[in-house]
Amino acid sequence: SNFSAAGISGRTLENITHQDRCGYRKPTRIQQYAIPIIKRECDVMVHAHTGSGKTAAYLIPLLKLAQEKGYRKRPGVENQTPEILIVAPTRELVLQIERYALKISNRQTQYSVKVACGGKKIRTQENRVREGCNVLIGTPGRVIHLLNRDTISLKKVKHFVLDEADRMVERFRTELDTIVSDMMPREKRQTLMFSATFERETLMREAAERYMRNDYKLVE
Ligand code: AMP
Repeated sequence: SNFSAAGISGRTLENITHQDRCGYRKPTRIQQYAIPIIKRECDVMVHAHTGSGKTAAYLIPLLKLAQEKGYRKRPGVENQTPEILIVAPTRELVLQIERYALKISNRQTQYSVKVACGGKKIRTQENRVREGCNVLIGTPGRVIHLLNRDTISLKKVKHFVLDEADRMVERFRTELDTIVSDMMPREKRQTLMFSATFERETLMREAAERYMRNDYKLVE
């Protein structure tokens, strides 16, 4: 399949293409461009409208990297250190990304996917996170809440995704700065910004200058 040309193989490829899982036959246009460069751990700014397959465009290569790099859950550790952090503006979007991630990774992985968003008791989510958390998907407010309670630390984040980045930089600028200030300097991680529009151009460029490496790539 074309997914192999993009560097996707093995279990991940099966999960993507199998009828009972995602059932994707070939990558969408945006996935063709984005998957190989994300897999090479470049910083990327992607403009892709809803329905273009943008979620899978980052989940497929990042979950493949998680598997190749051997990210493993550390159950029972009080202060969890996720290697992948995905932030999104709403609880609905966070849950949708989680469902996707579980489908692509299937449940038999060594790494663990957890969520942090409002609408559920913080204690419940905290207990889940403490069972192991390599991939954290969350809204900014709840991620900061877990940070303040020392349930998580972002010191080991190697891949950072801003989904609906245009809305994020507008509504959650302060929160994003708090989150990023807990991470290693931007040279030591991969940062991806996805947005559906070309709006808020100045805000987006400023955010890119603060959060991404100077040599980030543009995919449209
Ligand atoms: P998104 O743009 O991430 O909201 O995805 C839009 C829809 O496209 C979702 O329902 C995905 O399941 C679907 N999708 C994503 N990638 C592919 C693909 N390669 N082939 C077919 N459908 C896809």
